[in-house]
Amino acid sequence: MREFKVVVLGSGGVGKSALTVQFVSGHFCEKYDPTIEDFYRKEIEVDHNRCILEILDTAGTEQFASMRDLYIKNGQGFVVVYSVTSRQSFQDIKIMKDQIMRVKGVDRVPIILVGNKADLEHLREVSSSDALSLAEMWDCPFMEASAKSRTNVNELFAEIVREMNIAPVKEDVDWVCCTLL
Ligand code: GDP
Repeated sequence: MREFKVVVLGSGGVGKSALTVQFVSGHFCEKYDPTIEDFYRKEIEVDHNRCILEILDTAGTEQFASMRDLYIKNGQGFVVVYSVTSRQSFQDIKIMKDQIMRVKGVDRVPIILVGNKADLEHLREVSSSDALSLAEMWDCPFMEASAKSRTNVNELFAEIVREMNIAPVKEDVDWVCCTLL
């Protein structure tokens, strides 16, 4: 069975743990501890193929920013999460996406853009159309989700598996040329 390493990224408080725990254990955690960073394993079936996801729920706080290079290097797919209730969290993910591309050094990296807390419509600060434009620019799928109401939780993890199943990432040609010279 294939195994995929998935990294869940986003600033503190956007619901990375809530989404991961909802997916893995099927319950919603109200408790907010931004320092928790953990690995989870779950077997899922996507398009009739079973696979195992090893999910790293990152801490996402500034003091751990330097750790990101490390887990980006090891990750194969990235769930990039912002909260629809926080414009700031939507700005933060742009920096994280740049970091993913820089660390991976390849043309194509499996990424899905996720706007969490879609149940809090009355507190919305990020429109779906703004996020869709960003996803088009990134050339990646986009979903709004809610860890609380379990909306699109399984779907977003299935989608990142599909992205990882698409043609293997191409090595950075410039880098290969440099090492050959
Ligand atoms: P993390 O720091 O990104 O891992 O965020 P957490 O998963 O710890 O969530 C931060 C806070 O937001 C917690 O109080 C959660 O209960 C809450 N939360 C997470 N996801 C949702 C959601 O989809 N809807 C609502 N209403 N609250 C959420």
